[in-house]
Amino acid sequence: MSETGFPRFSETPFRLSRRDFLESTFFAGALLPLSFDSEQRRGRGRRRRSVDPSQIPAYRYRTLPVSRFPALQDEYDKARGDGQLSRNRVFRDQISPLSFKVPGNFTGAKSVVVVAVFAKTMYANFRLDGQAYRIMVPFQYYDDDLNAENLKNVVQKEVIKETGHRVVDITEQVPLKLLAARSGLGRYGRNNLIFVDGMGSFNLLHAFLTDYAFSNDGWSSLDVLNECRRCHRCDRSCPTYCIDRRSFIIDIDQCFTLYNENTGAFPNFIHPSMHHALMGCMRCQSPCPVNFNEVSAELDDISEAETRKILAGTPDDALLKSLQRKLRGFPAAGSKELFPILTRNLSVLIRS
Ligand code: SF4
Ligand code: SF4
Repeated sequence: MSETGFPRFSETPFRLSRRDFLESTFFAGALLPLSFDSEQRRGRGRRRRSVDPSQIPAYRYRTLPVSRFPALQDEYDKARGDGQLSRNRVFRDQISPLSFKVPGNFTGAKSVVVVAVFAKTMYANFRLDGQAYRIMVPFQYYDDDLNAENLKNVVQKEVIKETGHRVVDITEQVPLKLLAARSGLGRYGRNNLIFVDGMGSFNLLHAFLTDYAFSNDGWSSLDVLNECRRCHRCDRSCPTYCIDRRSFIIDIDQCFTLYNENTGAFPNFIHPSMHHALMGCMRCQSPCPVNFNEVSAELDDISEAETRKILAGTPDDALLKSLQRKLRGFPAAGSKELFPILTRNLSVLIRS
């Protein structure tokens, strides 16, 4: 145990159910042909746009035949084998189950449907000592209305549009970003996130196998945003300087999302003032000119009594149940095992 009372980071890795940033962050650097010349790199980029939320698509999708899986697997293996991948054990644990293999119990699969769902940023008021601490819950960490459970039905009814076809969720099994980029659903940004038309990087990726054969093959070149040619807002905004200006490679070991999603004490290079969300980090997305201004909503308030229990690290069943509802499935509020993450993250936000 560390002096803070938390086990040191590397001792107790947990994999959260939602994964977005870290699942395949190395792919852009490892695979993209980068030919921006120095003149193109200089500009400051355009301003972010305002958007009418009613104009944002709820989801977008593309399809690929599963016959593309071997080529995707080759790319994935090449990227893993080229020495650019972090040796961090938690990161390795998080990506080790990923592959482009058709499950043995679905050998009749013909296509994969890759879906990007728009998700807004949430805020919750944590009440303490008569004050309200309004804290961001980024879109990766709460259950939105269009989530993994009902998205499968959407794929059946609105994408396949024919009854009698099997649909299997493989979101947790495939490298989603590479799949999204190769299907033409999105393009990489310098911050290594996938940007989807009409949503920017405010999207959650999902993948479904089906035995329906789509007539089109969306196979696309791996592209980066044109806007990145003239912009460096994300690498300038990264508090830990982990976005490489030239190669599109993210230094995973320095990205503090890796640390605040998992148990353990924060390493010394993460200063308390860097924290700005209950989990994750939005510093490389918020200033991006390809993204529109933040679209947000409010979660239910966390009462003073609940905030005190969180800070004390003393969850009981009633508290877990209440937080699951109020924070809409926030992963670290879902079990006593993961609760120390919530205690640590909230403590640093309220007390720094
Ligand atoms: S802020 Fe956006 S447009 Fe600018 S370099 Fe980063 S990803 Fe590209
Ligand atoms: S800004 Fe935050 S999420 Fe983005 S690369 Fe840097 S530490 Fe990671």
